[in-house]
Amino acid sequence: MSLPICTYGNPVLRQKAVDVMVVDDDIRALAKEMFETMYAENGVGLAAEQVGRTERLFIVDIPADSDVGDDGRRENPSVEMPLVCINPKITGHTADVQVGPEGCLSFPEIFANVERWYEVDAEYIDLDGIPRTIHAKGLLARAIQHESDHLDGVLLVDRMSHVKKVAIGGKLKRLVKETKKAL
Ligand code: ZN
Repeated sequence: MSLPICTYGNPVLRQKAVDVMVVDDDIRALAKEMFETMYAENGVGLAAEQVGRTERLFIVDIPADSDVGDDGRRENPSVEMPLVCINPKITGHTADVQVGPEGCLSFPEIFANVERWYEVDAEYIDLDGIPRTIHAKGLLARAIQHESDHLDGVLLVDRMSHVKKVAIGGKLKRLVKETKKAL
């Protein structure tokens, strides 16, 4: 079942997520519903807070044809999608950064250029409760950073430039108003 998405202005998006202690049927059911929600909205990543939950968990599914670098080659050919990352932690990154357009299902129709590390290392627990590590590049690295931000209550609006924030100020205000009205 697809769940309603919490949009900007909903206080749950500012909460810090809580570590998952046991990967049980509840967590598996949550992940399943999050996938249904993300696919219904054509997203490539979704954090639990975006469906109103505070478990430290996000999902990512980058389509193969989007997992391509400037040279036309796959960035993460050995990573099997989709990913369910429970209690994720970014453990390292290279010095390179990449500025690229970023959207967020909690900010409908808003896109902003955001600077992210080009490559990150992360550890997490998978849906079977098994600890995993991942080395990610490009869009996948961007998604991992974006979704990890969500779990710390950090949002797209905090990562965009001041100029951009001012430029879309009216749009953001309207979004907050609509969100609060619906709460
Ligand atoms: Zn987001």
